[in-house]
Amino acid sequence: MAILLIHGGAGAIAADVENDTVSGLQAACDAGAARLASGDAGEAALEAVTAMEADERAFNAGYGATPTREGTVELDAAVMHSDGSSGAVTLVRTTPFAARLAEVVRTRTPHVLLAAHGAEALVDDPVPNESLLTPRSRARWQAWRDAQTAPTGTGTVGAVALDDSGRLAAVTSTGGMLGKWSGRVGDTPILGAGTYADERVAVSCTGRGEAFMRAVTAKALADLVAAGVELEQAIREALDGVRRHGGEGGLIVVTADGRYGAGFNSASMAQGWRWKGQGDQRVSRAPGVWVRTSG
Ligand code: ASP
Repeated sequence: MAILLIHGGAGAIAADVENDTVSGLQAACDAGAARLASGDAGEAALEAVTAMEADERAFNAGYGATPTREGTVELDAAVMHSDGSSGAVTLVRTTPFAARLAEVVRTRTPHVLLAAHGAEALVDDPVPNESLLTPRSRARWQAWRDAQTAPTGTGTVGAVALDDSGRLAAVTSTGGMLGKWSGRVGDTPILGAGTYADERVAVSCTGRGEAFMRAVTAKALADLVAAGVELEQAIREALDGVRRHGGEGGLIVVTADGRYGAGFNSASMAQGWRWKGQGDQRVSRAPGVWVRTSG
């Protein structure tokens, strides 16, 4: 029954990063699936996200995360399990591994969300903020600054998993929107907006965070599933809600009864999955929804 589903962001994924994105998805799926075989859903989802945060060639998370308009990197992440235990961090500048820091909040603090200096106090081995920049993220930031366009997002990473014991977990990690104001918090660390898990579903979202927050997208999808709406239709309705709130993007979801799928209404979405030794990873450029049933 164990299932792992990951994403590497929605939006306009540039053609020149597609090969690196697909190989990064593959490595993350393999790392997460190996953990799922011997561990639990939470460990597997965290392993997959950590692999994408460590990847310097693709993805808007960890090393290579997109900078603020000032050129600094401020990371957001969240972890949520089906038993309700959860941790999240925002405005993190001193480690690439924001999801692991969110896991520290989940397991070692009495809180759910820690920001900035509060979260950074839990980092064991802080690194300079500049070390999170890569040649590619610097170049993208310079191009954004020269063009003076609105903030854009692409390449956020996330994973959802169901393990053989029926536990679900969702993990999401991001640098947010390229050119965001310093101090801006997106949907990723807001439980119910960009990340959510309960006893029925685990959801990880990507896209324009302001719209996902207004639509409370991940929880909206969970509520539709709880109400008995068929999964494909529930994903469509959740994404319609994002559109109504002025944004676009995508999401991945797995259910406790072994259904899993993804959908997006932006130009593209990077996604991958593993189930019983089968799997796939790709940058999809045809907006829509797909759902599979295991077993
Ligand atoms: N949702 C992220 C944010 O708004 C960005 C993204 O998914 O690309 O922070």
